[in-house]
Amino acid sequence: MPDILNGNRVRDEILAELKPRVDQLAAQARPPGLAVVLAGHDPGSQIYVRNKVKACAGLGIYSETITPPDSVTTEEMLALVRQLNARPEIDGILVQLPLPAQVDAKRILLEIAPEKDVDGFHPINVGNLVAGLPGPRACTPAGILEMLRRYRVPVAGSRAVVVGRSDIVGKPVAMLLLHQHATVTICHSRTRDLPAVCREADILVAAIGRPAMIAGEFLKPGAVVVDVGMNRLDRREDVARIFRGSPEKLAAFDARGSVLVGDVHPLDVIEKAAAFSPVPGGVGPLTIAMLMVNTVDAAARRAGIC
Ligand code: NDP
Repeated sequence: MPDILNGNRVRDEILAELKPRVDQLAAQARPPGLAVVLAGHDPGSQIYVRNKVKACAGLGIYSETITPPDSVTTEEMLALVRQLNARPEIDGILVQLPLPAQVDAKRILLEIAPEKDVDGFHPINVGNLVAGLPGPRACTPAGILEMLRRYRVPVAGSRAVVVGRSDIVGKPVAMLLLHQHATVTICHSRTRDLPAVCREADILVAAIGRPAMIAGEFLKPGAVVVDVGMNRLDRREDVARIFRGSPEKLAAFDARGSVLVGDVHPLDVIEKAAAFSPVPGGVGPLTIAMLMVNTVDAAARRAGIC
């Protein structure tokens, strides 16, 4: 039986370590402050934002949720971000994606002051990441590296394969693995013979968005497998096929109407991997934990308490 990389445990450790830093900032200056902008009514976004606000409250971080109307324009969003940039008590600004279709998301993200960019998406911070300079790192990739570190997974010298090249996960996680001296291959939808490339991986990171795509034939025996995918199965036959008729999963589907699955086949990975992050309960909880870290780091930098 492989080791489980337990994201809930890692999240609890990270937050417990962060709490004294929040208390110190509150005592020496003021509590860190996070502004979350939620435009539109994406149900997933609403849940994410609620969880982010809850995490702030648990740590004593001041948070504010701003909800512009669905009809908000790019100019109005830019004005809002400029106001938040100028407010001294706000250390971090998070604009929840996706934005309504009429809003130019790239322009909005560019407008966020780089020192308040707690998502690490601003090109200045992407440059800092590439150059290995200090600055906020994208939360999900940073959480993955934190998980590997805390589980003492040897990264230096390993062969790491990242499937997915998004700006949010694939590219930054590949860069972080490279900085930790892995030999990194980045794959995508045009990669030839993906299973063969993946089979070379000591560490395989799947950030694709395709349910259970990484099956046994993609896995080197003894690999460490990090599953970033979060895919909701809402057809009973898909649940039955992927989980091979598991009565528990079918009962969960019947109770809730859907079941979550990652990008890695949940049964094949148990047969082949030395360790893996499950879905749910693997990478997911780390994203918010690292957002909290980035917010506290931003507050500490701005207060001159590093
Ligand atoms: P994107 O859709 O932005 O990127 C997906 C990537 O996968 C692309 O680079 C794409 O290639 C590649 N891809 C798609 N199909 C294939 C294929 N058949 N073979 C090889 N590569 C393929 O997704 P994200 O990076 O934003 O997210 C990926 C997954 O991670 C999603 O399930 C998302 O929900 C989840 N996620 C989870 C988070 C968490 O907190 N746990 C946070 C963020 C994301 P190409 O570039 O060629 O199109």
